[in-house]
Amino acid sequence: MTAYRLVAIPGDGVGPEVVGAARRVLDAVGAQHGFEIEWLEVIAGGAGIDTHGVAIRAQDIELAGAADAILLGAVGGPRWDDPNAAVRPEQALFALRGGLELFANLRPVRVHPALVPASPLRPELLDGVDLLIVRELTSGLYFGRPSEERATVDGRVAVDTLWYTEAEIRRVVRLAFELARGRRGRLTSVDKANVLATSRLWRKVVEEERGRFPEVEVGHQLVDSCAMLLVRQPAAFDVLVTENLFGDILSDEAAVLAGSLGMLPSASLGDRRTAHGRFGLYEPIHGSAPDIAGRDLANPLGTILSAAMLLRWSVGLEDAARAIEDAVSQALDARFRTRDLVPAATDTGDVRLVGTAAMADAVIARLGRSWGQPAGTGGIDDDTATMVATDTLLGLP
Ligand code: NAD
Repeated sequence: MTAYRLVAIPGDGVGPEVVGAARRVLDAVGAQHGFEIEWLEVIAGGAGIDTHGVAIRAQDIELAGAADAILLGAVGGPRWDDPNAAVRPEQALFALRGGLELFANLRPVRVHPALVPASPLRPELLDGVDLLIVRELTSGLYFGRPSEERATVDGRVAVDTLWYTEAEIRRVVRLAFELARGRRGRLTSVDKANVLATSRLWRKVVEEERGRFPEVEVGHQLVDSCAMLLVRQPAAFDVLVTENLFGDILSDEAAVLAGSLGMLPSASLGDRRTAHGRFGLYEPIHGSAPDIAGRDLANPLGTILSAAMLLRWSVGLEDAARAIEDAVSQALDARFRTRDLVPAATDTGDVRLVGTAAMADAVIARLGRSWGQPAGTGGIDDDTATMVATDTLLGLP
């Protein structure tokens, strides 16, 4: 049996709960598809600070880099929130992304039909939404130096530096072209070329690369109008590629389309290949959700769908990835819902309100099951789900 080496970094808050759920799904799909996972666990984030005094140790970054891929939950929380502290949980994320050269963050956004009522957008706008945001992850404003506050005779000033090299732009743009070629063949490059020099260089590099991908239709969009179009005509987009700050903001905006932060997966990739695929770090887009941590309330589907991306990109197991995605869709069709998916719902049908672990069970129960096949008897469907009318949940805190 083939064995893959995966590093799990549960992190803080709901991180251990959602990573635990996704690990069970991966182990179950492995048993069905004939592979095994050798798990290594790394303590990082606030937990890293508490245990080792740093957000992540250098030897743990090395360990993670030697694996086939990383599955991460989230880091941070009120206990470690002092902005002036020398060690902060998010340093673990920057160290992993920068240290392992994971320069492209991929955030696919699809809207499951059953969750349309959970989105604040009108249902007709969500029809056909299937987009992929590719965000540059290791340069730009978040990494440029100087980045500091200074005292001057005229008062305090602060400076951040927006800096991009041609090579940094080219590698992420090229990956976005490749991804667009494998999808519907449309690439939107997002910038602020009317104002920023870095954006004008970005646009030039996109134009230079387009000749290598004649089958891809390319458009340029200013970030401000793109922000508007993302909610006015989200179905018009296929692949979007943009720099670090714009991508951070636009991808959170796009999360609204899917109904809940808890639904969305992400992959951070570099150029490095392992024996099985492209090395990457996979995590849900949400944070550590301290308000619901430790209460079995977190939606694990964003992490479970990140695990599916891991199988597709880093392990090359498309069938197993699809098996997970199909099982998630079937669980949603069967009206399993964590609480975040319920309050905004406007349909009057009944839902099965479940916690983190039971949602993972509902997915596992549907792995390898064909669409429409009846649920097993005596399993998760019958025992652990509570049937409740949607409107009785609207008043929940
Ligand atoms: P958050 O994403 O943690 O939470 C925002 C809201 O969404 C909260 O109400 C939360 O309960 C809800 N939510 C998030 N994930 C959910 C899930 N899986 N299921 C159900 N509901 C979910 O963002 P925040 O509150 O701004 O940040 C909390 C902490 O997380 C902070 O310390 C922040 O720095 C950190 N953070 C970490 C990452 C990361 O590790 N990549 C990303 C963002 C924020």
